Amino acid sequence: MKIPEIFEEKKKAGKPVFSLEVFPPKRKSNMNSIYDAVDKLQVTKPDFISVTYGAGGNIADNSTCDIAANIKKQYGIETLAHLTCINSTREDVSVMIERFKETGIENVMALRGDIVPGEDIKREFEHANELAIQVQRKANDDLEILGACYPEGHIESESLDADIQNLKYKIGAGARVLITQLFFDNAKFYEFIAKARAFGIRVPVSAGIMPVVKASQIEKTVELSGASQPAEFAEMIARYANDPEGFYEAGIDYAVKQCRDLINNGVEGIHIYTMNDPKVAIRVWEGIKDLL
Ligand code: FAD
Repeated sequence: MKIPEIFEEKKKAGKPVFSLEVFPPKRKSNMNSIYDAVDKLQVTKPDFISVTYGAGGNIADNSTCDIAANIKKQYGIETLAHLTCINSTREDVSVMIERFKETGIENVMALRGDIVPGEDIKREFEHANELAIQVQRKANDDLEILGACYPEGHIESESLDADIQNLKYKIGAGARVLITQLFFDNAKFYEFIAKARAFGIRVPVSAGIMPVVKASQIEKTVELSGASQPAEFAEMIARYANDPEGFYEAGIDYAVKQCRDLINNGVEGIHIYTMNDPKVAIRVWEGIKDLL
């Protein structure tokens, strides 16, 4: 099923779309671990599961397509296959689009991918909107396109306004649903939505939520996302810095509170970054299932 249709159905029912993100295991020998995780995650009855795409963009050993196709076939759960373009040629992308179509994938997240300083990149594509255009051209109506957005502005962007202006190119190129970067401050999300709507962006936006359950996750998460830490979040980190069990529970509570507030304020979707840890995602789901 096309993901925009899922959003339409849920909207009619007055419910948010609930989705999960997983990533392909680094080693092929660990491939079963992803299906073990999905096996456990089934209980949350997600509307779809998204599968990330390795930043390197090497199509030969990329397992995103296989995993997304297998989840759909084995579990009957709709999937969203991510695709990055910054390190791919137009030919690579065409091959990937064909693979998606052949394996029954219906939804693609069109992404640029991160630019790692000093790393050689192909640069046949500069931005996600160019990838979205190629997906449109090659797949016609067979593949639905989704895109990423950033409640606090993309890290390279000079301002939130400039980033939202650029977001419009992605939508013009066919993205019909957006999923946000993780954030810890719901106020930032509400400001972003108000601004995006004022800029004429009407597509559904799903809120990307990452439960942070270990102190060691903070530095990397914040560095990569640029997400600001509201006082309550900073207090949690300080309070449980030397108490791993307390941190775990507080991190889940924080994510549950964030999701409940978003749902009570009419969010169109909740997208949980599971980090392939079903226990954490299931705990968050248990805390919000009465609202789904
Ligand atoms: P773009 O939309 O191209 O934006 C990048 C920057 O360029 C922004 O600053 C934007 O304002 C600007 N810009 C955009 N379009 C234009 C234009 N036409 N002209 C001028 N400037 C423009 N990375 C992975 O490697 N694999 C994944 O699976 C993955 N999944 C993700 C899922 C989500 C929900 C999110 C939020 C991010 C994900 N990422 C993933 C990370 C993503 O690749 C990076 O955040 C990357 O730096 C930007 O990707 P983008 O698609 O948003 O790029």
